[in-house]
Amino acid sequence: MQFAKRLDNVETSAIRELFKLLGKPGIISFAGGFPDSAMFDVAGIQEAANKALTENAGLALQYGATEGFGPLREQLAAFMATKGTKDVYADNLIVTTGSQQALDLLGKCMISPGDKVIVEGPTFLATIQCFRLYGAEVISAPVDANGVILEALEQLIAEHQPKLVYLIPTFGNPSGATLSLERRKRVLELAVQYKTLVVEDDPYGDLYFDAPPPASLLALSSEVLGSREWLAHCGSLSKVLSPGLRIGWLIANAELLAKAVMCKQFSDAHTSTFAQATAAQYLLAGHMPATLAKMRKVYAARAHTMMHALRANLGDAVSFTEPQGGLFLWVKLTGQGGKLADANVLAKKAIEQGVAFVPGAPFFSQNPDASTLRLSFATADEDKIREGVARLAKAMAA
Ligand code: PMP
Repeated sequence: MQFAKRLDNVETSAIRELFKLLGKPGIISFAGGFPDSAMFDVAGIQEAANKALTENAGLALQYGATEGFGPLREQLAAFMATKGTKDVYADNLIVTTGSQQALDLLGKCMISPGDKVIVEGPTFLATIQCFRLYGAEVISAPVDANGVILEALEQLIAEHQPKLVYLIPTFGNPSGATLSLERRKRVLELAVQYKTLVVEDDPYGDLYFDAPPPASLLALSSEVLGSREWLAHCGSLSKVLSPGLRIGWLIANAELLAKAVMCKQFSDAHTSTFAQATAAQYLLAGHMPATLAKMRKVYAARAHTMMHALRANLGDAVSFTEPQGGLFLWVKLTGQGGKLADANVLAKKAIEQGVAFVPGAPFFSQNPDASTLRLSFATADEDKIREGVARLAKAMAA
């Protein structure tokens, strides 16, 4: 069959292939990008779904507006305000089917074949694939422990004049890194200076361990620039409530938002009204602060356990980011003492030892670093994390 030419630019993700191996009994997985399903507030969601049906089933089960369910847009604006965003109102955001759809809409609205975009190296794999599907050349900017390196980013922007720069500034997937406040301010200035749309993808910002992260680019944009013209922000309830609800949102200037609504109309018409009405009731009931507090505590403990176990079991054979939140540790195999430095080779040995992780190379749109890997500390409990890291050490020695 002759498929569309755009499919030539993408391939099935290496990560999906790896997931096929995860069915092996007894395997401890650090591979997923999922939140822990034990963390879902089932009772709260059940109550919210019931309310959505008893209060107005006609609305909750009917077709709805493409922009999103009004009460949810209000609740999401209020949720953003609790995080320091002062001037985002219901009209400034649209509800999307996961933030993944917000990214897809941005790709659809902004990218013509041959356009250039800049992402972090490493970044969220689905974003690379999505932008490539629209024909983008996806250029990679290097990151360090404080997020994207500004000198390199500015040089790349000046050289390539990208249609957009995509960043995960807070607790990056997979980097675990958080962009410093100084760099955030400078990124916003670069967006205006070079008239380049900066996309802030922020599904993890609420999952901090000890202290809240620096203000989001969104919150800073009005403070630093007095405008959001060159900024788009993607939010999501996936990691803090439930990915199965598929609730995300997009905040952007009015012109871009209108184009995104038009594209969404022809795509899925609107995000599930029932899911939206349920999420609206959940937020309205005020459950979110307690849910977040619980998640922060559990994920922080798991992250610290994993970091401790890595130091104890693997010593200087690995170095890693020390995330302040999120779900991921980004590990580099140092090759010290003649130890293994190829994450693909280690991944296979690790599966044999009963532990799984994702090699880092696919997360780079350019210049993949084969010595990197991503460990999720989200889904295994602390005992499993200790055991999994011990198995990793065995795999390293095998
Ligand atoms: N962006 C990033 C950085 C992610 O890690 C994810 C999910 N893993 C998404 C977007 C998509 O999330 P969702 O569509 O569930 O909101």
